Amino acid sequence: MRKTIIAGNWKMYKTITEAIELANGLKRELFELDLQRIEAVLCPPYTALSEVSEVITDSTIQLGAQDVFWLDEGAFTGEVSPKMLKDCGCGFVIIGHSERRQYFAETNDTVNKKIKAALKHGLTPIVCVGETLAEREGGKTFSVLEDHVRNGLKEIDGEDFAKIVVAYEPVWAIGTGKTATPAQAQEAHKYIRETLSAMFGADLAQGCRIQYGGSVKPENTRELMIQPDVDGALVGGASLSVQSFAAIVRTAAEVKK
Ligand code: PEP
Repeated sequence: MRKTIIAGNWKMYKTITEAIELANGLKRELFELDLQRIEAVLCPPYTALSEVSEVITDSTIQLGAQDVFWLDEGAFTGEVSPKMLKDCGCGFVIIGHSERRQYFAETNDTVNKKIKAALKHGLTPIVCVGETLAEREGGKTFSVLEDHVRNGLKEIDGEDFAKIVVAYEPVWAIGTGKTATPAQAQEAHKYIRETLSAMFGADLAQGCRIQYGGSVKPENTRELMIQPDVDGALVGGASLSVQSFAAIVRTAAEVKK
């Protein structure tokens, strides 16, 4: 059985004070979270990682970062290394988010380097893949997913692959209020799992958790989570409020597969 995983990507929102408040609120709301059923991960901006780590230290909630560089240290102004993220208490890191690909020249090659570096330091990569609207309308959804998965995860062995979480994030559904229909999400997740199966074998692919991301809200969580190949959610906007993120986590925990 794959344990459901819900991650909140706070993007470039929340000062340290606001982040502490949000994390405290979530800690209160999710106090009785059943770890057998679900994992919840908060991904605040770098500036608030240490403080959020302190807030959630005695809870079941986990910490992630939104990006990482691939080297341990050096003259790379503005970058943050996997070692530094571990130092802040992170267990997870989002890699290859479409906003990084779109605005910061992230490519499958840099994604691949970052995944390997994260794994080397014991961080769980949440690897984002997904097509733009033009690609979907041009009938290229599957070829884009195949390209992101095969090249992003190239030269990674089975043992390391088993630690990775994949997030299917159709770019046209991110921050737009447009959600993929449950059928569209399931179709893409199934295709991703088949691609992973061809790369790593059926058993490892069956064990891999694939999150859906793109305008997930409390109201659409259930219909997405009941899809057989949807194992959680990567949540942007709705992760910025205690009520909506807690409702998403609780709803996802109730869905029986
Ligand atoms: C995201 O940033 O990964 C995301 C899915 O955002 P939103 O939920 O706001 O669409």
